[in-house]
Amino acid sequence: MIFAERNCSVNYKPEKKQLLTDYRKDRIKLFNRQRISFIIAASVLLGAFIASLPAIGYTDIFLYVSLFCSFMLFLLSTALILSLRQVILSFSITALLMVLFVLTGQLRFPAFVILFCLDIIFCFISQRFSKLFIDTIKEENHTISILEQQAYTDELTQLLNRNGLDQALTTVWAFCKRYQKHIGFIMADIDCFKNYNDTLGHYEGDNILRQVGEAIKACCKRETDIVSRIGGEEFLIVLSDISDTYIVKAAQEISQSIAELKIEKVGQCSCSPFLSISMGIATATPTDELSPTDLYKGSDAAMYKAKNSGRNCICFNDKIITPDK
Ligand code: GH3
Ligand code: MG
Ligand code: MG
Repeated sequence: MIFAERNCSVNYKPEKKQLLTDYRKDRIKLFNRQRISFIIAASVLLGAFIASLPAIGYTDIFLYVSLFCSFMLFLLSTALILSLRQVILSFSITALLMVLFVLTGQLRFPAFVILFCLDIIFCFISQRFSKLFIDTIKEENHTISILEQQAYTDELTQLLNRNGLDQALTTVWAFCKRYQKHIGFIMADIDCFKNYNDTLGHYEGDNILRQVGEAIKACCKRETDIVSRIGGEEFLIVLSDISDTYIVKAAQEISQSIAELKIEKVGQCSCSPFLSISMGIATATPTDELSPTDLYKGSDAAMYKAKNSGRNCICFNDKIITPDK
């Protein structure tokens, strides 16, 4: 699970490296598993062939066994992805056997040297294959991470989008439910935003959305704070392990920092001389009967109450709070 790094981390980052290692291990396992039956079949056939050689008059059995071991090393090196430890082990077994044959006079020295050199080459080939395979996996993983990040991020503001919100919320909600922590939703909607588009154009409107997104994000500093853009000029902020006082204060800070952007109002909207937002808050401690949708609906309804109460204010528990009180 990869989140837009700038706005919601909920401490997932340390797992990234572990995820890559696990992914790499799984891919290597799968690759090797698909080829292992071929290796077994080839080695059984070759073994049977070598065992039958004396019966048809070929008696240099130690040379054939050495050839068989070297061929197996070649097969393992080219068909499977082996770790350095596995390559050294396979090579050592083959070399040890051949040295034994040479010392007991069963294998001629020139044949031993040729096979030994070939075995070393096979080991190098094996490690080269492994490196190429691992590099490809890393690249693949990097592409997947980028795509995942794009899928969870709102392109315009770089905040979480709905997908990202759903993902992050699942974890945070489960945490709050398990440890019986209070969680709160702040639904925020820019006041009279359509006027900006109509007067300044959509390009300027987009710039304003970016600035508002950044201002909200700057107020949500805790690792577990979730900030998302869920629609045109609507933002949903989820704060976990909070008190009612804390979340109201957070909403007031957000409102204050948006006022400090000092974006002048355009068109007919008298709630404030500068761009403002209306917010609705809903909080609860998660239970089996309660779902994130309930808080979503609650904060949405509260936001509309704030709109109907003149905008540029916060509604919580049916009370209207102005930004600085
Ligand atoms: P209210 O105070 O009642 O919320 O009024 P409002 O004008 O903010 O709300 P309304 O729903 O009438 O208009 C929202 C506007 O947001 C309409 C739409 O053009 C604009 N909008 C939605 N998405 C984007 C976007 O991505 N970029 C820009 N520039 N504008 C957007
Ligand atoms: Mg609006
Ligand atoms: Mg709206």
